Amino acid sequence: MRLFKPKPCLYFSTEYFLGLCEKGPRSSFDCNKYRKIRDKLLEEKIVKPSYIKEPEPATWDDFRLVHSKNYVEKLKDPMFLAKILFLDYANPFDTDIIDFFKYVTGGTIQTFFSAYQDKTVCFNLGGGYHHAKKDKGEGFCPVNDVAIAIVKLFKKYGEMKVLVIDLDYHHGNGTATIFEKNENVFTFSIHRDNWDTINKKNNMDILLPDGTEDSEYLLQLKYYLPEVFDKFNPDFVVYIAGSDIHIDDSFGTFNISTEGVLERDKFVYNFVKQQNLPMGVVAGGGYGKDSWKLYYNFIKWVYKGD
Ligand SMILES: [Zn+2]
Repeated sequence: MRLFKPKPCLYFSTEYFLGLCEKGPRSSFDCNKYRKIRDKLLEEKIVKPSYIKEPEPATWDDFRLVHSKNYVEKLKDPMFLAKILFLDYANPFDTDIIDFFKYVTGGTIQTFFSAYQDKTVCFNLGGGYHHAKKDKGEGFCPVNDVAIAIVKLFKKYGEMKVLVIDLDYHHGNGTATIFEKNENVFTFSIHRDNWDTINKKNNMDILLPDGTEDSEYLLQLKYYLPEVFDKFNPDFVVYIAGSDIHIDDSFGTFNISTEGVLERDKFVYNFVKQQNLPMGVVAGGGYGKDSWKLYYNFIKWVYKGD
């Protein structure tokens, strides 16, 4: 049961289109994923068009809040970006790849701002590039939009305790590394594989095996998440609702059902609302032609109920 019905708060731009499909054999990516979510929300009248806000793109200066000056300079080269994204080819004059990340990062920044300001839940219909580190992009993530948006939140509203609940199939190694020395950011992740060892006091990593099913996954989440809240007592929550935990995902190896993904999202939402905390949600990973439906299901439930 949904505990609280918020006023819709969503960020989407038609610039949320990464033309990977045109630039290489990326069959796992659904290049129209974010747009499909927006279209279905409007078609089913879950939200009115006026509730979907267009973000301002993030700037190079925003990127430099988290990434090194030298690394941000490299990002200006489309050929460098293409390597991070495993593209076979990039036009050296092509700026649309970095523009995509500027818009999505702008969306995550404004999602967090709106959620915090209005003490509510807001969604970015994209984002969650949690592998990017200070000096390095990896796993299709050139910039860490989540980390940038957290630092922007601190700059605008002052330091506060931020809990990142990262339930993407992959480990949120970039975010955890970026905030390794910052005790105001707690990173909680349930995932399949560890890409890095995190030496962070405020971090909890739960590793689950291939084939993990709904019951085991939800048991771990429902056991550990309340413990993290008790221990850390956050002021703001970030939720990376990666849907690559789903059984049909092209990359993931868990066996989580469609109902299981939604139950995960419902649990996180209700738990955070019970604490009366604002929450910014980003899409995270999710690969395959039907992956968009999983994030859509969550947003639909938040605004329409059971
Ligand atoms: Zn992932």
